[in-house]
Amino acid sequence: MIKTEKLTKEYNGKNAVDNLNLEVEDGEVFGFLGPNGAGKSTTILMLTGMIEPTSGTCTIEGVNVALNPLKGKEILGYLPEDVGFYRNLTGYENLDYLGKFYPIEKSEREDRIERLLKSVRLNGVTQKVGEYSRGMNQRLGLALALLNDPKVVILDEPTANLDPEGVLRYREIIKELEKEGKTVLICSHILSEVRAVCTTLGIISQGRLVAKGSVEEVEDELIRQSGTKQKIVIKSINPDLYTEIESIKNPDILEIERTDDSIEISVQTDIRPVLAEKLKDHCSGITEMYLDRPVLEDLFLKVYRRE
Ligand code: ADP
Repeated sequence: MIKTEKLTKEYNGKNAVDNLNLEVEDGEVFGFLGPNGAGKSTTILMLTGMIEPTSGTCTIEGVNVALNPLKGKEILGYLPEDVGFYRNLTGYENLDYLGKFYPIEKSEREDRIERLLKSVRLNGVTQKVGEYSRGMNQRLGLALALLNDPKVVILDEPTANLDPEGVLRYREIIKELEKEGKTVLICSHILSEVRAVCTTLGIISQGRLVAKGSVEEVEDELIRQSGTKQKIVIKSINPDLYTEIESIKNPDILEIERTDDSIEISVQTDIRPVLAEKLKDHCSGITEMYLDRPVLEDLFLKVYRRE
């Protein structure tokens, strides 16, 4: 589990991270989102024990990483946005050298390196890392992040340099980590990627958590914050349907409008099952019913464009 309590980092009299309370449960694949300058990197640097909080705490599996950074490193796997390797060594040699810092037996280390290089499709590559593409470098970074078989994994922009095949393989690896019960925090601005792999999302803005939950819950929250409407659209040739819908009393219905061929119901949340039940005796003539709702990408732009 990852937990921050009133986590704060102050730079030049301004809070880059401001009393952040964040919990990522065991086994969760958590997408950490926010506009530029929101405080994501600063939070990650504190979670990985690389900078100290001004106040508040962050714990990984109950370990306070600021007080016990070495213990933190044992349980944490971290892929930074730009990972540096020894350029004149091969991928294998890099992992073998860096793996010696972990308390793992030589044979176990060698097995893991073989397995991980295979997993990120770098097995058998004899080139020195200095000749790697950015994508290969990032894949090797992912292998390094998993080398200590960490319970908790933090990945910063993990797909930024990957080609489409690399992205597909990366998604499979995340699914494997999820199956193994690992806790994963992914920081990315590629929202479609986050949506593809994450079970939970959290949005940070001006150093504070402003939304957290499933993709749908976070979308609901952003719809509320942006004042955007979501509508249930019903296409029907039944002239009495409008009156029927008007008679439904439901606090989630905000507005009902009639257009030439449809009825548009602005709603707080998706109440299609409720409508279907209420209208079950008036279904004849209904040709379509769908939710017209802005998606995460549009909402994110709308709410955070100014920032
Ligand atoms: P993000 O990763 O979400 O883009 P950052 O955590 O990098 O955001 O930055 C949050 C805020 O803290 C920004 O206003 C940034 O300018 C400021 N900041 C980050 N690092 C430093 C630093 N080392 N010194 C001064 N200000 C910083």
